[in-house]
Amino acid sequence: MPAYDYDLFVIGGGSGGVRAGRMAASLGVRVGVAEERYLGGTCVNVGCVPKKLFSYAAHFAEDFEDAAGFGWTVGARRFDWPTLVRNKNTEIERLNGIYRRLLVNAGAEVIEARARLLDPHTVEVGGRTVTAERILVATGGWPYVPDFPGSGHAITSNEAFFLERLPERVVVVGGGYIAVEFAGIFNGLGCRTTQLYRGPLFLRGFDDDARSFLAEEVRKKGVDLHFERDVSAIERRGDSFLLTLNEGSTLECDLVMYATGRKPLSADLGLEACGVELNAAGAIVVDGNYRTNVPSIYAIGDVTDRVNLTPVALAEGMALVWHLYRDHERPVDYEYIPSAVFSQPNLATVGYTEAEARAKFGDDAIEIYRSTFTPLKHTLSGSQEKTLMKLVVERGSDRVVGAHMVGPDAGETIQGLAVALKAGATKALFDRTIGIHPTSAEEWVTMREPVARADD
Ligand code: NDP
Repeated sequence: MPAYDYDLFVIGGGSGGVRAGRMAASLGVRVGVAEERYLGGTCVNVGCVPKKLFSYAAHFAEDFEDAAGFGWTVGARRFDWPTLVRNKNTEIERLNGIYRRLLVNAGAEVIEARARLLDPHTVEVGGRTVTAERILVATGGWPYVPDFPGSGHAITSNEAFFLERLPERVVVVGGGYIAVEFAGIFNGLGCRTTQLYRGPLFLRGFDDDARSFLAEEVRKKGVDLHFERDVSAIERRGDSFLLTLNEGSTLECDLVMYATGRKPLSADLGLEACGVELNAAGAIVVDGNYRTNVPSIYAIGDVTDRVNLTPVALAEGMALVWHLYRDHERPVDYEYIPSAVFSQPNLATVGYTEAEARAKFGDDAIEIYRSTFTPLKHTLSGSQEKTLMKLVVERGSDRVVGAHMVGPDAGETIQGLAVALKAGATKALFDRTIGIHPTSAEEWVTMREPVARADD
């Protein structure tokens, strides 16, 4: 008779929790997975997947425009928001089912209820008390809205996916991934869109050239983008809202969306009572093997607030299962993690930004290669959209240590380059690689001359 009801009990059925639960169960581990909201978590339900679908929807607006230069006459256009939301919901329900089947077919028990830790081996879930040798917390994160007068009127990305109707005028506050992506979505779908960011330039942490280049492109598309602007109050005025900005001006709109970061979902899980250490931001503190200070409790993904990306949570789930249930380790390599912002156009990146490389290797130790151009397609489309590609090279080793792109499908291109960077590709190797003509991507292997340094 086993000492515990489960070998592994997973709290949270998102990207990380499902992957870990499924992989462990497929090895014969007795797994329970508790999910109180929706299987697939943020990514599948109110994140990556529906966001990308909305982003495709928004892009059609310019596809219709672009077609005219190629001889097409596009008839009257009308966008129907409820159709998009309904079709998106159908697809998400299909994915929810797939996630459930993946777990069940692997042999895991799925419990659709909230779970709370009672002690380091005991969980209360759906009115039951169960025990487990190990407990994995993978509860993710939740949008954060700062507290100020009227902040309750703002929606977050969670609600944006289910709006009954599209607003005529929308204000998006924030300058991170989600704000930039949603400003592009609303704008592409025809809303008059304003984006406000409190700092001097949005997407802090990304390469500066890419940030300023994207800001210009976003403005060209019609987003009314303002930096050094924050909201100090929101007042309801009938069906619309009046925003008071930090410098005293006011702005009227029909919807305010806040995308000002996310917080780990660690409250009210019984973690404190078990003595699990949380940091000041409420994230669960783990060691290199995702173990908390309580030996039977582990945590992965956004609830640990480290690299908050779905593929990282998946990799952490896999690494943990290898660590606990297989005879050798497969740790996550956190170097050169690529990511993309699905803005219009996309921004994608892998490796060091120019500023990071300067700080790490020294100003004289790096070379920058940069190309900005009009993609071939736009010679006929009439679109003013431009593309940026940039390589950061460490001079001593000739290794390419950073690649940054703003342009159509940047994420598709950067994923391939991420393999090259992880493999340690040198600039000479890039130069020896034959391009595919005519593509935008061939520019990666034809940037011959470094950008002159300021002191040259
Ligand atoms: P981010 O942390 O990326 O950005 C938050 C933004 O809000 C920043 O611009 C920040 O400004 C601003 N902000 C924070 N607090 C305040 C405040 N009190 N008042 C005004 N502005 C504020 O968060 P997101 O919500 O955009 O995304 C959360 C995470 O989800 C990301 O970090 C990312 O890991 C993940 N994600 C990934 C995506 C992808 O891979 N495509 C897509 C969406 C999300 P400042 O820079 O000045 O601090």
